[in-house]
Amino acid sequence: MRLLPLALLLLAAREPDVEGPKGLFRRLPPAEPGEWLFVFPEEGQTFAEYRKADPVRPTRERRTVYLAPFLTRPARDPGMLPAMAALLQASFSAEVRVLPPRPLPSGAYVRARRQVSAFALAPHLVRELPADALLVLAVTDRDLFVGDLSHAFGWGSLKLRVGVLSTARLGAEDDPPLARRRTMTLALHEAGHLLSLPHCTFYRCLMNGALTIEEADARPAALCPVCRAKLCWNLGTDPLARERALAGAFARAGMECDARDALTIAETKG
Ligand SMILES: [Zn+2]
Ligand SMILES: [Zn+2]
Repeated sequence: MRLLPLALLLLAAREPDVEGPKGLFRRLPPAEPGEWLFVFPEEGQTFAEYRKADPVRPTRERRTVYLAPFLTRPARDPGMLPAMAALLQASFSAEVRVLPPRPLPSGAYVRARRQVSAFALAPHLVRELPADALLVLAVTDRDLFVGDLSHAFGWGSLKLRVGVLSTARLGAEDDPPLARRRTMTLALHEAGHLLSLPHCTFYRCLMNGALTIEEADARPAALCPVCRAKLCWNLGTDPLARERALAGAFARAGMECDARDALTIAETKG
């Protein structure tokens, strides 16, 4: 019992080192049972810590973002990959290329579990990284698992420049706009990991971990001030120009609320 105040003190000592306009970003409340941070009490990472952590960054040769579809059937949303490419382009100000669809490499699909293993797929993606690739994000419609987790929406390496998302558990079959939003925010989240952004523990933020679809739906499509500072420092991009580009891409993707949020962030001084 005597340890508890000390633990609280240590937790309280970790504060975000970038602030945004007041009122736009809400601090993340303490995790409830069943939520990501309750199950995985991650520490989070400040902007200063990110800069010291030698994150993945573009080089003169490696600047292109690749989407690698591994789909077993035509996507229910035929605009999924073009919308994803447009959003990643706006978020990273990078050229985005969609690779031709192909079957999963052998060993990546675990027949006994009827699932794709993220850790078995990753070495294939690393081996096949195009010479000009900043990162490769695979997209599968099969169910996915990661390590000991029975299933996952996605996984992104903080170091290897490869990741994967699965549309299998996103649901919303009868709600195409919700299905679209879930897929797009998942792609932006996993791509963030590929530039070494860990889960965010400071604010409600695109980079919050999510154990359930409800938790995933609760996270905004926007990066909080800390995570946005990391990304923009990494890529050398102007934060407000990025928000404006994202607002346009969200609007074209049919994500009107997220488009409005991005414009509000771009237009609010603070
Ligand atoms: Zn994540
Ligand atoms: Zn954040």
